[in-house]
Amino acid sequence: MKEIQTKLLVIGAGPGGYVCAIRAGQLGIDTVIVEAKKLGGVCLNVGCIPSKALIHAADEFHAAAQLSLGKSPLGISAGAPTLSLAKTIAWKDQIVGRLTSGVSALLKRGKVKIVVGVARFRDGKTVAVETETGTQIIRAESVVIATGSGPVAIPFLPFGGPVISSTQALAVSALPERLVVVGGGYIGLELGTAFAKLGSDVTIVEAEPRILPLYDAELTRPVARRLTELGVKTLTGAKARGLTPKGDALLVDTEDAKEIRLPADKVLVTVGRAPLTEGWGREELALDMDGKFIRVDEHCRTSMRGVYAIGDVTGEPMLAHRAMAQGEMVAEIAAGRNRSWDKRAIPAICFTDPEIVAVGASPEEARRGGAEIKVALFPFTANGRAMTKLGEEGFVRVVARADNHLLLGVQAVGRDVAELAAAFGLALEMGARLEDIAGTIHAHPTLGEAFHEAALRDLGHALHI
Ligand code: FAD
Repeated sequence: MKEIQTKLLVIGAGPGGYVCAIRAGQLGIDTVIVEAKKLGGVCLNVGCIPSKALIHAADEFHAAAQLSLGKSPLGISAGAPTLSLAKTIAWKDQIVGRLTSGVSALLKRGKVKIVVGVARFRDGKTVAVETETGTQIIRAESVVIATGSGPVAIPFLPFGGPVISSTQALAVSALPERLVVVGGGYIGLELGTAFAKLGSDVTIVEAEPRILPLYDAELTRPVARRLTELGVKTLTGAKARGLTPKGDALLVDTEDAKEIRLPADKVLVTVGRAPLTEGWGREELALDMDGKFIRVDEHCRTSMRGVYAIGDVTGEPMLAHRAMAQGEMVAEIAAGRNRSWDKRAIPAICFTDPEIVAVGASPEEARRGGAEIKVALFPFTANGRAMTKLGEEGFVRVVARADNHLLLGVQAVGRDVAELAAAFGLALEMGARLEDIAGTIHAHPTLGEAFHEAALRDLGHALHI
């Protein structure tokens, strides 16, 4: 097979890699992208998008089921809904298909060459790709490692049989009657909640003292309350020990050191994700590591000249939008532009019920940073739009410096608050102060007014509370 010579070679077509290649194509850089599985990576195929599709379907089903109970305060009643899971999964797959073919079209428009196969470094400038038709050698001036991450397995609870990862959970052919989720982080809770709404009997097992341990207790309390309302059992301070010999139950050590048995048709393990740093010839390179991640500087350069790394393989937060922003930046650097990582905040969202958004520093993080701060919270019980959506649980919270009122962080929990991430992120990125948010007209009636009111409250003169 004829060798390919290119200016830029991207390994991995997840949100980091494909965005990097699209932008490089737009900038007229001769670019090749190699993907072992499917364009779109984890996010489009087995992550962000399919999980949000399943969550939406579950919300719709649950809402219809509530109407059939005849208890809706809206005065609407309906018959009991039925679920065709195969159709739900097919609908989700069709969304994934539309998005991944969109990525393919955008790459082609930028004249990016797509090579399908597993890439392996021979040296810092040469990669061999095992394709269906043989080994393809690619030589490049610059290489971008965007190999992403995979689910972490528990050694005594390996994937297989009833033990599944999020990937299998998103493609089940039958609804598990009893689902035990090991790991109460955002992925476990998002999927666990969706299955509970579709009708599974769900138990969450979390080793830390509370669910979503990376978020503060004030933010996670409404989610914990809602899980109870949905009939989801949550065992915190509990450790999974393994399956019973028959494989029909999970053995768990509870907080008070008792061993219990949780009958389960499926055990979904979501205890984290690990960067994919093996299997592509890292040993042929001299890359400095940062723990389990590849070390990069503010230009996403690794310790080897001409070798960049982006996305989940480079560290936390392992989120699609961080990977995309890094990908775009590296393409521009490859085109000779003067770019560096200057982001003030990376939003994080849990698509739980209710949703959580966190941008910038929490009160605790801001205090730890040494700043004297002012914190204010505006509850959705005092927001008209939240009332009209039956979404009064939750709040928007702003964290600002006490001396000059510079915004340090904004968090929210509530129905549909994910969409507020854009406003919060923009405010932080623009270096807004409380007075800037207070001086902006926020449309009425919207959830965004709670952001306005939280800023006003932090200044000591909220209007609607
Ligand atoms: P990946 O998406 O992991 O893509 C890497 C690609 O590289 C893969 O396609 C892989 O096949 C390919 N590859 C690896 N090695 C080679 C090789 N040697 N040769 C060729 N190709 C190779 N993030 C969010 O921001 N929002 C969400 O709502 C969200 N929800 C999620 C839900 C779930 C269930 C999961 C699992 C993840 C979710 N994430 C979410 C995380 C998000 O999917 C990742 O942060 C994102 O996909 C990382 O992008 P990436 O480009 O670094 O790598």
